[in-house]
Amino acid sequence: MIIMHTANKADFEAEFQTGSYGSKSLDTYGFIHCSDLDTYYLVAPNFRDDYTEKVILLIDTDKLDSEVKWEDGGGLDFPHIYGLLNREAIVGVYEHLWSDTREWIPNKELQEYAVNGFRRPWECIFCKIISGKIPARKVYEDEWTFTFMDVANDVDGHILVVPKTHRKNILDCDETTLAHLMKTVKRISNHLAENCGYNGVNLLNASGESAGQSVPHFHFHIIPRKAGDGIDAWPHFDGAKQNAEEVFSKIRL
Ligand SMILES: [Zn+2]
Repeated sequence: MIIMHTANKADFEAEFQTGSYGSKSLDTYGFIHCSDLDTYYLVAPNFRDDYTEKVILLIDTDKLDSEVKWEDGGGLDFPHIYGLLNREAIVGVYEHLWSDTREWIPNKELQEYAVNGFRRPWECIFCKIISGKIPARKVYEDEWTFTFMDVANDVDGHILVVPKTHRKNILDCDETTLAHLMKTVKRISNHLAENCGYNGVNLLNASGESAGQSVPHFHFHIIPRKAGDGIDAWPHFDGAKQNAEEVFSKIRL
């Protein structure tokens, strides 16, 4: 996964010549302080009063030589690197940007990085809908989930069900959140069939960019259906390309 570290620019540039970075942090703290993309907005204000030039390092933990431990930092877990940060693990170096009032400005490149596979609650459109910052046609809400009409208006009754806590998709969603999400999906489906004149639903989800996920906040589409409505909600495939037995031997649990 990708984690972030704020470095003093001059220290980083001097030390990085050696092929690794972090000896000052290690001397002071015993580890290198990091955060993930979710929590960086909580970390950034710590540097508000420090006017030395900073850079944000983007670090791929899979490429790290040193061990990472997730440790409590005031209620949230933060990644700490126990050892030097090797050059290969640094996958991006970004200028630390500040507004006139010393609020951290997320770098454009970093935001794009986030949308391509990482969470960014400070920007997530569905998180903004849930918090009411962006208006939506709310169908239903409970403690765990939020249900609203899709703005695409591409098919009658197009509904989205999302968890209130930011989860990217089924791959990173914990089971408790998932259970609540599915409970709401069923509740809405039954409501459509029992009270709204429909007699079936299509449930659609894309998990991962490769699957065509566009908004990186877990969501189920519900398309209400009626007999003879003429809607074709089933994907059109071009036929399997690999031998079914070979695929089967690879994917069976
Ligand atoms: Zn979100």
